[in-house]
Amino acid sequence: MKKLLLILSVLISYSAISQNTYIHCGKLIDTKKGKVLTNQTIIISGKNIISVENGLLTPKNQEDFIIDLKDKTVLPGLMDMHVHIEHESNPKKYIERFTDNEADIALKSTVFAKATLNAGFTTVRDLGGTGVNISLRNAINRGDVEGPRIFTAGKSIATTGGHADPTNGMSNYLMGDPGPKEGVVNGVDDARKAVRQRYKDGADNIKITATGGVLSVAKSSQNPQFTLEEIKEICRTAKDYGMTIAAHAHGDEGMQRAIIGGVTTIEHGTLMSEETMELMKQYGTYYVPTITAGKEVAEKAKIAGFYPELVVPKALEIGPKIQETFSKAYKKGVKIAFGTDAGVFKHGDNGKEFGFMVEAGMPAIEAIQSATITSANILGIDNELGEIKSGYLADIIAVNENPIENIKTLENVVFVMKEGIVYKQ
Ligand SMILES: [Zn+2]
Repeated sequence: MKKLLLILSVLISYSAISQNTYIHCGKLIDTKKGKVLTNQTIIISGKNIISVENGLLTPKNQEDFIIDLKDKTVLPGLMDMHVHIEHESNPKKYIERFTDNEADIALKSTVFAKATLNAGFTTVRDLGGTGVNISLRNAINRGDVEGPRIFTAGKSIATTGGHADPTNGMSNYLMGDPGPKEGVVNGVDDARKAVRQRYKDGADNIKITATGGVLSVAKSSQNPQFTLEEIKEICRTAKDYGMTIAAHAHGDEGMQRAIIGGVTTIEHGTLMSEETMELMKQYGTYYVPTITAGKEVAEKAKIAGFYPELVVPKALEIGPKIQETFSKAYKKGVKIAFGTDAGVFKHGDNGKEFGFMVEAGMPAIEAIQSATITSANILGIDNELGEIKSGYLADIIAVNENPIENIKTLENVVFVMKEGIVYKQ
């Protein structure tokens, strides 16, 4: 009996392995060449793409099956380099810091993860939360929760009173004195320890808040908040552990220190001067604009009571400027990766960013490349994701129209496959 069962299970797993999926694509975007191909067949086995063929091929075996996307445009799973998967902006958010337990955050984050995946984003870089983001990543990797592949910074690193100091705006009684473990550093020894703590926590990368920010309960949105030496020590230590560094920055001085200090990406970059753009080119630093977040905070700031009083003028001033900075940086030739800051607005609306990028002068194909091959490059996964190519992971999405002609079609993704599994059809 045991033997029979063994033979049966071998037969079943053999047929599972040999069963291939053929995706018939009316249009297919070759992100590497920047071209739209017509009538292509993607052949998938398990998690991987085994080949991409010209024409609409008939499967070789009876057990193979066809996914018909003949009237769609097919492209690789999208990647967002700046999300906060644990949270979503709402007027109660500042109170929730005192009322939510980790379990509440975790349960909400599963909903945000699902919305993100359904929007066609199969990979995201999470740039800061409480650390629940690490558990969420693991749950998704185990297959317990549906969501995008997550590369997370865990908890952001700030300085005392800085943008990601978790006790900003609290009473003295609650404020305490958070340190490197909580992601607050003062001096190079703290800086080194905070990075090592993130590594120990299980973070994939490092996030620092190099300048003031909009949504923290603090006065300035743009002051530099780290010394150059602190940033250098963070970057040096992070690189020892194979981690990249993302720097939140609105003000120019803090941005320059971050670039010279060795960060991988500048987030928002709102008040970036031409000199700083040149510096980014010189250091090979990527720009992650987050135009959507800028526009959304400026809108929400007009609703009475949505944000605390200290936040409103910052949101009105900083928010609308990002798109113009993006436009200038693009024309200057700064390397640009796709990022939205989802969580500051509704998860699942990440695709809006494409329209804003194109509106500001970036050709549609380059906007798509920023969310595929460029992002894969930043994450160090460009040998397996970002293209639809033989040997790559089968992260594949589809939209109704050709996004080169109508970029807004990317706000309505109709088919989502991640590692060969269909999540939306
Ligand atoms: Zn952010």
